[in-house]
Amino acid sequence: MKVGIGRERRDGEKRVAATPETVTQLIGLGVDVTVEAGAGLASGYSDAAYQKAGAQIAPDFDATAFDVLCHVRPLSPELAATLPTGVITVGLASPASELPTVAALAAAKVTSFALELVPRISRAQSMDALTSQALVAGYRAVLEATIRFPRFFPLYMTAAGTIPPARVLVLGAGVAGLQAIGTAKRLGARVSAYDVRPASADEVTSMGGTFITLDLAAVEGAGGYASELAEDRAVRQRELLAPHVAKADVLITTAAIPGRPAPLLVTRQMVAAMPAGSVVIDLAAETGGNVEGVQPGVDQLVPTTAGDGFVTLVGMQDAASAMASDASRLYAKNVANLLALMTNDGQVVPDFTDEVIAGACLTADGVVRHAPTAAALE
Ligand code: NAD
Repeated sequence: MKVGIGRERRDGEKRVAATPETVTQLIGLGVDVTVEAGAGLASGYSDAAYQKAGAQIAPDFDATAFDVLCHVRPLSPELAATLPTGVITVGLASPASELPTVAALAAAKVTSFALELVPRISRAQSMDALTSQALVAGYRAVLEATIRFPRFFPLYMTAAGTIPPARVLVLGAGVAGLQAIGTAKRLGARVSAYDVRPASADEVTSMGGTFITLDLAAVEGAGGYASELAEDRAVRQRELLAPHVAKADVLITTAAIPGRPAPLLVTRQMVAAMPAGSVVIDLAAETGGNVEGVQPGVDQLVPTTAGDGFVTLVGMQDAASAMASDASRLYAKNVANLLALMTNDGQVVPDFTDEVIAGACLTADGVVRHAPTAAALE
């Protein structure tokens, strides 16, 4: 069977869905791999490296000419509509926000797999792109803060005086938040963190952070995820968080609820109450933001209430893509491992009795198989 790897079309997207290493893995499964010329360049993978791994390089890549098409960002509805019946696609699909593409995939009778839908179970960890990309984003968020922060992160005791460590607060201690905690800690900051799931307290501590407990009943929904807070409790949560935010030099927010807009955890007023020179990195900016008024891809200077300066509010965009080489290395492994699960003797044949394959399937045989997405399309 023929597997195609195209160049990503979305502005700012530097990742690629296969690396030379995963091309070797895929060819080992008995499939032919074609990579669009230049597809890996922004991630640091040359055409020559793909060719050496056994891929064909296509200068005139036709995305409709393959049995399996792998991608990073969701396909456009236009491309989805032109794919032949029975084609298999594997990649991120953002089903909650890319409904026209989902509808087009279903209408074209494409068998599409959305990496966001891979069940978060032990057996599927090697295919879990949400985790691999959140790991990159959490790390990157801290680096983005350090370059904007006009102070050191670690404690320095020098002959010219003592510099206190930066106080970093992380809100949302899932995969990205835990990576942010670990990274800030390694840089010498004093780190505290909060999550609405009390189960995350041990993980925060094991990464070297101090867990903040609020006087707010815990909220844990299905599958270990948080569920949305009722508005009165969300207001109370912001009130209780305010003194912690006011003490932070660096605030990193990562809170998310699957399939829903990001919860608002920090108001503009709370940002303005932070010390002058502080930095806020909102990793949830692309899904509505945890911080009031944040804009994806934009740095804003928020005047402090004290009138002594500004807080830099950063709406992170394409955080994983900013570290395209390693983000692609992990992502491509996720894609190849999912394909490996579906491939026998060079034939990609999904077995829908497998809970990982069934769970990750977005559309098949003209039907949207992911119930919440099907309901949203009605
Ligand atoms: P996510 O990206 O959906 O959300 C990030 C964090 O935001 C979560 O920890 C969530 O609890 C938190 N959050 C949501 N609303 C909040 C609020 N109002 N206030 C504060 N925090 C809020 O989460 P994720 O990183 O994908 O991880 C979610 C869960 O899945 C975790 O329990 C994680 O351990 C688990 N997980 C399991 C596996 C696996 O078993 N294979 C893999 C990865 C993650």
